[in-house]
Amino acid sequence: MKIAIIGTGISGLSIARMLQAEHEVVLYEKGERPGGLIKCERVNNCLFHKVGGHVFNARNEHVLEWFWSHFDRDNEFVKAKRNAKVFFNNAIIGYPIENYIYLFDKITVKKITTELLELQKKPKISPFEHDNFELFLQNSFGNTFYELYFKPYNKKIWQTDLSTVAMEWLEGKLPMPNLQEIIESNILREEEGNMVHSSFYYPKYGGSQFIVDRLKSGLTIQTEFEVSKIENIDGKLRLQDDQQYDKIIYCGDVRKLPDFCKKILSDGGIDVSYLEKLRSNGTSNLFCETDENDISWLYIPEDFTKAHRIIYTGNFSDSNNLGSERRTCVVEFSGKIDYGVMVEEIKKLPGNLKPLAFNYEPNSYVIQDKRTRTEIAKAKFLLEQRGIYLLGRFAEWEYYNMDKAIEAAFELHTEINTTNILS
Ligand SMILES: Cc1cc2nc3c(=O)[nH]c(=O)nc-3n(C[C@H](O)[C@H](O)[C@H](O)COP(=O)(O)OP(=O)(O)OC[C@H]3O[C@@H](n4cnc5c(N)ncnc54)[C@H](O)[C@@H]3O)c2cc1C
Repeated sequence: MKIAIIGTGISGLSIARMLQAEHEVVLYEKGERPGGLIKCERVNNCLFHKVGGHVFNARNEHVLEWFWSHFDRDNEFVKAKRNAKVFFNNAIIGYPIENYIYLFDKITVKKITTELLELQKKPKISPFEHDNFELFLQNSFGNTFYELYFKPYNKKIWQTDLSTVAMEWLEGKLPMPNLQEIIESNILREEEGNMVHSSFYYPKYGGSQFIVDRLKSGLTIQTEFEVSKIENIDGKLRLQDDQQYDKIIYCGDVRKLPDFCKKILSDGGIDVSYLEKLRSNGTSNLFCETDENDISWLYIPEDFTKAHRIIYTGNFSDSNNLGSERRTCVVEFSGKIDYGVMVEEIKKLPGNLKPLAFNYEPNSYVIQDKRTRTEIAKAKFLLEQRGIYLLGRFAEWEYYNMDKAIEAAFELHTEINTTNILS
């Protein structure tokens, strides 16, 4: 088959590599170069992750096997331990914060422990049985902890009423709280470094741009081409360049899809206005130099600053700091923040931060509400019957990390080849 893939983030590149052995594959990318959210660039010879600071890990064995078939794990990657911290009350403390309750004042400790014990008396329900994200946090940690930490932090990131955020996206994203663990950690006072915790892989040179550069090799990619029309003419799918395809895989923003194929969607009974109004957040990223430290991520819950996280990308690989005497990091803000404002904000943060560059990414975090999965599933079903497939974080409106995007590409690969055999 001849297959067009729209978008060259990790989703588009992965599915292209999976399909290219059996089919003719052409990729379209509206940007100047492939990579989507995982693009990086060098600034003063230091590596700037333009969004976040991408590290790789996966639980799915197939994903790991596929990924490592493209890379030499031992020679091209480092394996690092996560060393997350929280900047709270003007001090850097451990993560997760519930293991450090002993650092709070007496009255707060009393309130938190009373509430945690009260919560134990309630019937246990699974996280996904909670009606919304706010209720889940309150029922898991108690109101004092919620008001002190979880509410301000999540409000900063999501910039929306947490009671309208669905629970489904959370699956596998947060370690679920466990009272026994909280008590033990607060008594034993072990640093995260002594406890069982996760690790990640990171390229020795080039960060996630290294991943893009390897995956894109040998693929046919048309850059600076924004797909704006998909037509079905005599059973073939056609884009605005008049090229005909048997199948199209769309990895862009599902909200834009009605612009290109509104008729297909509305004739098929899809609530187009719902799709168009899906909520998301952008992020502003300030690339900085920082003082030496051994942290990987620093979470900043309190609202004395608009910043919510520092990602110490310079600690992931020494080659990320080539042009600097110091370390580098990315300070992340939710939404669009002016450069001047960010420069003022970082003065409130630890590490004597000095700005080097900045980037605004309008599409970073997807927000799911209770209808989202049903409506996306309906659109997928309808489009698939017409040879159009949705794949990736913004096309499926899922809170995917890279590994989940690759896993979704696997499923789609199987589906496309199965449909091909059956037809
Ligand atoms: C702050 C942050 C930190 C993160 N950290 C991690 C991490 O550490 N590890 C991890 O595994 N994951 C992480 N993620 C998640 C990860 O970034 C995503 O899962 C992944 O990059 C999504 O890839 P994608 O291909 O689905 O989408 P995208 O990367 O958005 O790619 C979509 C591509 O489609 C192109 N496009 C869109 N519309 C069109 C069109 N009409 N025509 C042509 N081209 C089009 C876009 O230009 C873009 O290149 C993080 C995400 C964020 C926001």
